[in-house]
Amino acid sequence: MRAIVMAATALIAGQVLLASTPGVAQDARLRVSASILPVHDLVRAVMHDPARPDAVPGLILPAGASPHSYALKPSEARALSEAAVVFRIGPDLEAFLDRPLANLASDAIKVDLVETPGLIHLPIRDDADFERHDHGKHEGHGDEGKEHAEHDHDKHDHEAENHAEHGDPHIWLHPANAIAMVGEIARTLSEADPDRAPLYRANAQRTVASLKAAMTRLEADWQMLLSAPEPVTFVVFHDSLQYFERWSGVASSGSITLNPEVPPGARHMQELRQRLSAQNVRCVFVEPQLDGRIARQIAEDAGLSVHVVDPIGSASIAGTADHGAGSYIDLIGGIRDTLGDCYRKHTGRSPFGTDSQPTVKD
Ligand SMILES: [Zn+2]
Repeated sequence: MRAIVMAATALIAGQVLLASTPGVAQDARLRVSASILPVHDLVRAVMHDPARPDAVPGLILPAGASPHSYALKPSEARALSEAAVVFRIGPDLEAFLDRPLANLASDAIKVDLVETPGLIHLPIRDDADFERHDHGKHEGHGDEGKEHAEHDHDKHDHEAENHAEHGDPHIWLHPANAIAMVGEIARTLSEADPDRAPLYRANAQRTVASLKAAMTRLEADWQMLLSAPEPVTFVVFHDSLQYFERWSGVASSGSITLNPEVPPGARHMQELRQRLSAQNVRCVFVEPQLDGRIARQIAEDAGLSVHVVDPIGSASIAGTADHGAGSYIDLIGGIRDTLGDCYRKHTGRSPFGTDSQPTVKD
């Protein structure tokens, strides 16, 4: 009777709880998979159990691959099919997981973290949105809701405009979203594995505290960058950094392609060239997961320097067996380093006061 009530409750909640089968050891491993490295790092932190070093999630997207265009290999699809819990950002980012997730066992728990309550969502930007940027002005952190209202009446009929349900999918690059996702991950794992709920809760609290401490240190760096004698001016290959820009106040001057799977159109390129010169752009950021040839050509034509920025953080783990614990903080620190390199390249000085190594690691 109790089991029936529990099953009904679980169905109402929209998720099916894992049945506790008699005869199966209580410490049977909960198989968890995570799509991209930053999600993997947050899930790993919540699962961390010193007594069980094998309690780590699987990483679905290999190092150096782009979630925008990946296709699972058969062996990867088989490994994924054994997962009891799968975390991804959502269908707008990892569309390659739509079919594999639909084929998962019916009792598997699939979490689209983009649905996490309380997330900051930003609309997908087009050229006109970039022009609205007010460079060098830090807007602060209290006006997140305003952004939607400003764009609701957006009437641009752009070639690459995309009406993704949740807007720009690169949500993890705002640390407030990462913190909300840690809570969602802990809630999900606690439902799937109630015996370890206290562990997941404690891990989530510790993870949030360490994220907040690291982000506070980084916020001091953004203030230094924003008050430096010269602005740091850059374009990115695709518009991956909008959430980071909103958090840090350090704004890009646009992106080379509006959709990483479609080459930039002639009109967009014309607008981009005008902006490169009008905004005195100095740097082009290429991404290790995407083909940077067009970006390098544009940089060469316009006399700009090229720097690598990694919004997924996975380039650094290529060839390693360990998928980089602490990689979420490292990836934000990597963006800091790229911005510092751009600034230093054109001024000969570090924007961060000293030329010492980044201080993002504990
Ligand atoms: Zn992207």
